[in-house]
Amino acid sequence: MDRFQKQIDSLKRRLSNYELDERTGCWEWKGCKSQGGYGVIGTCIEGRTSTFTHRAAWIVENGLIPNGMLVCHHCDNPACVNPNHLWLGSPTDNIKDMVTKQRHNPARKDPMLKEAQQALLHSERKRRKCITYMKTLFDKYELTNDEILQVLEEFKHK
Ligand SMILES: [Zn+2]
Repeated sequence: MDRFQKQIDSLKRRLSNYELDERTGCWEWKGCKSQGGYGVIGTCIEGRTSTFTHRAAWIVENGLIPNGMLVCHHCDNPACVNPNHLWLGSPTDNIKDMVTKQRHNPARKDPMLKEAQQALLHSERKRRKCITYMKTLFDKYELTNDEILQVLEEFKHK
């Protein structure tokens, strides 16, 4: 068995540390969590020493995540590792999803989301403002510098 397959098998086994929420169908991660409520699991599958459990759940089900893409939650529950609740999007998709849906997750009630949404609607005139909001939002929701840069790149081409 090759190294990759071994990592996948190990992840699969360890990702069973969840509890089913029968009301929502979410698989609630029971292990370590980040400040933002995302599950964290030790694995070098993405070239780091750990990764988020929702990313690990996606990888186990669908294979590696293309560079710069994010695994997002339909259910808006950061601790959920149910593959059926996950979708793959660009950072811009993710932020648009965040600003267009009004959700129960406390992170979605961030007043800055409304500001970012307005800035998005006027991306030409308010680009500078938009960029500031984006940076703050992305910091807050634990995205990497690369992901922020990618969003800014995408905005340049709009
Ligand atoms: Zn879920």
